[in-house]
Amino acid sequence: MTSKRGDASSSDVIIVGGGLVGLATARALQSVRGIGQITVLEKEPIVGAHQSGRNSGVLHSGVYYRPGSLKAELCREGRSEMVAYAAEHGIPFEICGKVIVATSTDECERLHAIADRARENGVRAELVGPRRLRDLEPAADGVEGLHVPDAGIIDFPAICRALAEELAGAGHQVVTGARVTAIDRRGSETVVVAEGASAAGGTAHETRTYRAPLLVSCAGLYADRLARLAGLDPGMQVVPFRGVYYELTPNARRYCRNLIYPVPDPAYPFLGVHFTRMTDGRVEVGPNAVLATAREGYDLGTWSARDLVEVVRWPGFRALSRRHWRKGAYETGLTLSKRRYVQAVRKLVPDIDRQDLVPCRSGIRAQALDTDGNMVDDFVILETDGQIHVCNAPSPAATASLAIGLHIANRVASHV
Ligand SMILES: Cc1cc2nc3c(=O)[nH]c(=O)nc-3n(C[C@H](O)[C@H](O)[C@H](O)COP(=O)(O)OP(=O)(O)OC[C@H]3O[C@@H](n4cnc5c(N)ncnc54)[C@H](O)[C@@H]3O)c2cc1C
Repeated sequence: MTSKRGDASSSDVIIVGGGLVGLATARALQSVRGIGQITVLEKEPIVGAHQSGRNSGVLHSGVYYRPGSLKAELCREGRSEMVAYAAEHGIPFEICGKVIVATSTDECERLHAIADRARENGVRAELVGPRRLRDLEPAADGVEGLHVPDAGIIDFPAICRALAEELAGAGHQVVTGARVTAIDRRGSETVVVAEGASAAGGTAHETRTYRAPLLVSCAGLYADRLARLAGLDPGMQVVPFRGVYYELTPNARRYCRNLIYPVPDPAYPFLGVHFTRMTDGRVEVGPNAVLATAREGYDLGTWSARDLVEVVRWPGFRALSRRHWRKGAYETGLTLSKRRYVQAVRKLVPDIDRQDLVPCRSGIRAQALDTDGNMVDDFVILETDGQIHVCNAPSPAATASLAIGLHIANRVASHV
């Protein structure tokens, strides 16, 4: 492999990460703050290659989140922004509504707590009995349901592409194939080194330097590593949680009209295996959540010793394992055994059979873990001299991305 150093390129803002949060932040910095030259650096050959392009495609309305939290505020605002953006750019979406289904009286109590939260968050949601539940989702079996009419589905990868095209069209740079490997604050500028394949092709590889007064890092699964690279102590470790999706066969799509969700376990930040009608008409079921063997380990055969050692050595990991080993074992069972997956799914839709589900894909969530072993619930955005780091942006950050971008743009006044 040969290596070559390119000339330094200057701009007003460098954004690391071409996922929804990075691209939406670039858009907001341009439109709200009128920033002249923005450079987005993305290590993959395309934008939206990780969480933003491998999620459930659900527009959340904001029923679950703690009132007053960033998640509650930015999900509500972001959903409206996202709907307007998709409508303006001809991107497929549909506000089809969803039901959260309680399958036992135990779960009803938790369902009522979600209904209370929805009210506090100003989100429409109605508790419904079994008859109305059957009208909404004939195949779902529950003792009670919560109907959330403003939830929807959307093509998030298409949103990523549209945002990138819009930025490039306005004269900004979206540089793909550029992996940031060093960040250094020098006086009033941040200097960033990125590596990528050389234009000459083959195994040749090129190092480029970028400089700007402001850097915003939106690096998803690598958010903590980028913060440390910049000399910050984020006080948290990103833990990758892998989730497996199945797809319903065309004949079995009749079991789900729109979106069918279980009542989530409040001890856990994930929403549970759910049924999602995608914008192309397919129905996906998933994802479960198991500690991944690499930050980008989409299949079981992909391991990274560095990623695993970092997680296991993190001070909060032992507490996390002690608290959640039962749930961890259950979720691992769902990954390893289709029979168990089908059993879990049948709690919501009893008519589903093993042959109705075909393996489909996986996604990996970036979930921050603090030093006490708590999974950090809210979005976390840290600031230091000339830099902003988005350190925790789990679900519903795809729905909320345009509002997260606006939130960041309003915080940068002190940096530019
Ligand atoms: C399985 C799953 C299901 C989900 N379902 C939903 C849902 O239905 N609705 C919803 O609202 N949210 C959902 N989410 C959450 C949502 O997808 C994420 O919160 C959101 O996409 C985060 O966006 P991001 O831009 O922060 O991260 P990402 O999309 O992961 O983008 C980060 C980018 O940074 C790049 N990067 C990292 N390191 C470097 C580096 N050193 N140099 C250059 N580039 C770098 C990566 O390549 C990546 O493209 C789900 C997530 C998952 C994984």
